[in-house]
Amino acid sequence: MHSELLFRENWEGKFRCGLKKNKSDRWCTQMLIFRVLIGTWLIFLMSCSSLQELQKANLKRQQDAHARMKDQYVTLEKPSDTNVNVSGDGLKIDSTHYSLSFSEDLQQHTEYDTVSERQQSGHGYLVFMESLYQFIYQIFGFEPEHKIHVILHEIYRGTKLMATTTVHSQNRLQSNGEVLKIIRGIEMNFPMNMFAQLPVRAHELTHAFTQIYLLPAWFAEGIAVWVEVEYAKGRDHRKVEINKMKLTLDGLNAAQEWGGDLDAGADALTEWRYNYCYAIVAELKERFGEDFYPKFFSLMEADKLYQRLPGQMTTSFLVYYLSQAAGEDLVPYFESLKFKIKRLSKDEILDAIKSANKTLRR
Ligand SMILES: [Zn+2]
Repeated sequence: MHSELLFRENWEGKFRCGLKKNKSDRWCTQMLIFRVLIGTWLIFLMSCSSLQELQKANLKRQQDAHARMKDQYVTLEKPSDTNVNVSGDGLKIDSTHYSLSFSEDLQQHTEYDTVSERQQSGHGYLVFMESLYQFIYQIFGFEPEHKIHVILHEIYRGTKLMATTTVHSQNRLQSNGEVLKIIRGIEMNFPMNMFAQLPVRAHELTHAFTQIYLLPAWFAEGIAVWVEVEYAKGRDHRKVEINKMKLTLDGLNAAQEWGGDLDAGADALTEWRYNYCYAIVAELKERFGEDFYPKFFSLMEADKLYQRLPGQMTTSFLVYYLSQAAGEDLVPYFESLKFKIKRLSKDEILDAIKSANKTLRR
């Protein structure tokens, strides 16, 4: 702005010189040369300034694009087709991917004790949750088969500070004698205090998407916190140094034997576990790229071996698929972090499945 003003003054000066030409041509010529030089210099300054402005504008454009990506979570667009249906009593709201209900204690709350309050708020919640669903779907590239049942509470399990997501599964004997884990449903429970926090919704919805693969709890929490912090701007967790691990009395990494959200206390070890598991998930994505997790889940989906495993998925099984997605053996990495794991081949996994099925048939 300052250069622009100077430049305009200079052009006005040049005009005045033209008016003075008759008084002294030599003086005026000298002044003209002098002013042309000044003008050139100012034009140069302006050019520099314009270049800087251009660079600044480019940088701002890049920053804006980055911010838009980061803000996408907060400014989720209204999905075009939510199919939200509200029951006459406002107690049940359905949409394309959810069903939502209000617990009895919330129905006593002054904000939810009339039909219209429940209908309006429930409708709004599911429109938002449908957007969030698309957001999480974009990150992982797959979606659960079942509708997700969301239950809202005033107080849940005696507290306003805990939300849970549960994937209900059942072992079912197939006609060929194999036992398959069948997902029967997904249920999310939120006290309103937690539902109001957008990063918490993203954390829980990540569980709803990924726990259909029955992941070990430490990895399930790591991936949920990763989405919560890096995509949904959550501030409750932060990365910690991966090589500074807390150990059990057996000298093993204290993250591995963690039960996850349901085994979470307000203590330093729990806080470290959330942060540590997130740090591992984030580091793997940094090392192997944006497509690493979509690839990891699609490999598991292609084989469907997780459905045939006895019990919950173990870390050794998880690392087999992480290695497949990475294209390199990750057993040494996890061993260096004091995880207790065994290097498995697919044949060994299939053998374990066969012997488990024999045991179940006895
Ligand atoms: Zn969690």
